[in-house]
Amino acid sequence: MTILVTGGAGFIGSNFLFYFLREHPEDRVICLDKLTYAGQESYLEPLRSNINFRLVKGDICDREAVEELFTQEKPDLVVNFAAETHVDRSIEDPDVFLETNLMGTEVLMDACRTHGNIRFHQVSTDEVYGDLPLDRPDLKFTEESSLNPSSPYSASKASADLLVLAYHRTYDLSVTISRCSNNYGPYQYPEKLIPLTIRRALNDEPIPVYGTGENIRDWLYVEDHCKAIDMILQKGKIGEIYNIGGQCERTNLEVVREILRELEKPEDLITFVPDRKGHDLRYAMDISKIREELGWKPETDFIDGLKKTIQWYKENLELFN
Ligand code: NAD
Repeated sequence: MTILVTGGAGFIGSNFLFYFLREHPEDRVICLDKLTYAGQESYLEPLRSNINFRLVKGDICDREAVEELFTQEKPDLVVNFAAETHVDRSIEDPDVFLETNLMGTEVLMDACRTHGNIRFHQVSTDEVYGDLPLDRPDLKFTEESSLNPSSPYSASKASADLLVLAYHRTYDLSVTISRCSNNYGPYQYPEKLIPLTIRRALNDEPIPVYGTGENIRDWLYVEDHCKAIDMILQKGKIGEIYNIGGQCERTNLEVVREILRELEKPEDLITFVPDRKGHDLRYAMDISKIREELGWKPETDFIDGLKKTIQWYKENLELFN
């Protein structure tokens, strides 16, 4: 089997490539990545000598290049990680978010349907559901929850999800969608909370925390996410959406404090900064469907995952200089 992974030089994509090639050494894997600031060729260094792996630098929005790649490589399956992903950047400049996250998804699905109904998996996010109140811990998002995105980033992802479902209905394209909560682990560009905090703490620099730090996120170790996607590819039902989550809700402040504790750094590095515009309060996922239908569940304990992540950043900080 040949699988095309877009955005494989980024955070989750690179972890997925390592996972997938380890679990399926008989398959051929092509990575299509634009190599923006968030994705680096050097992340994929460990795969350089793998004869079943090929990295192609290119843009998923470039219809001609995508068409050529499909003709050349004849993938059996496409997994779309490629995206602009940082909410703050989407607030500053939404254009590229709509272009890559929505139009890029369209280009890929067009190639899938014109090359003989190639299976397409869309990697999406819990942020498409919007947020939940802080004082209702009983509420969680299910796959049936309505889409109510808050930021240009999450609106672009929600739009893409709708397009994926429309391609299934209209063209009978074989699609699946996974919506996952916040990931953490190695290879994440240090602009998001966990790697930013680790890097700044290691350099004894102030650590910005939005508002009062009370916003709650559900955290999942990246390898558990990769395993969930692999299970959906193997056993997921076509046309279905699967929520993926860590069952690990923490306030942003708790996460930052935990990292400082692990690094033995003082809490006075924490600097509260004005809140993000439209900042989502709480995300929480109901993962009964993937647990019951596919037998997936999160495996990595938060503190263990955090220790591994911190260790990785300590050893690889120069990747981000
Ligand atoms: P990332 O920002 O680390 O990486 C994105 C990758 O996509 C980079 O390698 C980048 O070069 C590539 N890319 C960007 N635009 C491209 C284009 N036009 N053509 C080809 N490649 C392009 O992102 P991530 O955190 O690894 O997220 C991957 C996917 O998972 C995204 O779709 C994101 O919405 C989703 N997701 C992320 C999280 C999370 O916590 N990080 C949670 C749930 C879902």
